[in-house]
Amino acid sequence: MSVKVRFAPSPTGKLHVGNVRTALVNWMFAKGQGGSFILRIDDTDLARSTPEFEQGIEDDLAWLGLLWDERYNQSKRFDRYEAAAERLKASGRLYPAYETAEELDRRRKVQLSRGLPPIYDRAALNLTEAEKAAYEAEGRRPHWRFKLDGKRVAWEDLSRGHAEVDTASMSDPVLIREDGLFLYTLPSVVDDIDMGVTHVIRGEDHVTNTGAQIEIFEALLGDNGGGSAPAFAHMPLLVGADGQALSKRLGSLSISEMRDQGYEPIAITSHLGRIGTSDPLEVAPSIQALGAGFAFSKMGRSPARYDTADLDRLNAQALHAMDYATAKPRLAALDCDLGEAFWIAVRPNLSKLADVVEMARIVRGPVTPVIEDAAFAEAALKLLPGTIDAGAWGVWTEAVKAETGAKGKGLFMPLRLILTGQAHGPDMAAMIVLMGRETLVKRLKGEAG
Ligand code: GLU
Repeated sequence: MSVKVRFAPSPTGKLHVGNVRTALVNWMFAKGQGGSFILRIDDTDLARSTPEFEQGIEDDLAWLGLLWDERYNQSKRFDRYEAAAERLKASGRLYPAYETAEELDRRRKVQLSRGLPPIYDRAALNLTEAEKAAYEAEGRRPHWRFKLDGKRVAWEDLSRGHAEVDTASMSDPVLIREDGLFLYTLPSVVDDIDMGVTHVIRGEDHVTNTGAQIEIFEALLGDNGGGSAPAFAHMPLLVGADGQALSKRLGSLSISEMRDQGYEPIAITSHLGRIGTSDPLEVAPSIQALGAGFAFSKMGRSPARYDTADLDRLNAQALHAMDYATAKPRLAALDCDLGEAFWIAVRPNLSKLADVVEMARIVRGPVTPVIEDAAFAEAALKLLPGTIDAGAWGVWTEAVKAETGAKGKGLFMPLRLILTGQAHGPDMAAMIVLMGRETLVKRLKGEAG
């Protein structure tokens, strides 16, 4: 059996780190097993779904390297959901109910005040045809509920181990709203069956849904020649560095924003793919390597800690390890491609790729030299080697040290300040070669430019 998974976002907002972790774990699991990854756009809610959000989801996934093998829109599959609903109605599992939201709310309050669980009482199951007709005549439209078996639904969860949901403790879920809208629960099951999904991997906030959905799988598969529900994995949710749930803050952690902030895709995927697992939080050489190394057995039960400081560290790691061929087109796009030696010299100092702009300026100018001691600058100029090559810095600083008596920081800092105008920056031995003798002379004379 070859593995088939799906990532099923609703195009009602931007992808954030929470969704992307789900997408990524699906992708890693499938690719690690030579399986396929479906992108399924859950757009049954036509009022809230937009083409812009849908496009954004595709752009973000493609940018991260999470390419899909198949792609579907639920909005193009309503006939399949209608057909499934008809079958469930025929078998008595889907029944009409006419209560308004206020009526249901009132009943819940009464139940709670009596110390009872606020579960739907199934009053609608006892409606006579005449009563239904009367509601219809009043202008009420029914919503449709799935009649749960009221049993313990159990499965072996790839992430949680043995899992059970007691559907007797749940209200019969509404599958179709009074305005005809299919809520997520049924279309998802119909699609998982039609598309041959073997593993449903999602956040642990879906555990209760799974109880109901397994019953729907059984109801649809049972009267259709059998088959079984897919396997399930419910991952622990993300928490912030403070240990608090991230759910409320996810809105501000969109992937498109992270892209604008200059994060590398491999840093994001390495971070999201490895938090909450026993793997070290290091940048992976490629997303394929992440997939190859993934296993649910490495995922713990405790929440995964999303910490921007870790992401920053991985981002720097990704840049420090990036080869020139990979960096070259991106440097060119920033008008900063000063060659391989430049890249090798500056990459250990990068936090974000755009930091190269500043480093290229230091090489090309304009720079305003900072000269704190004119006599020191004059001595350094006099001792500057005739040829500025890889060994020049060592020879030169030794000579300046011998002449002026300056050493350590007192020697290197004034030279850096004169030549770059800054107190920090890349390795000077490499930088002076890139600057060239003419530029060095100019700066040692205190000339800006
Ligand atoms: N559209 C659903 C959601 O975003 C999909 C859940 C699922 O993976 O089944 O929550």
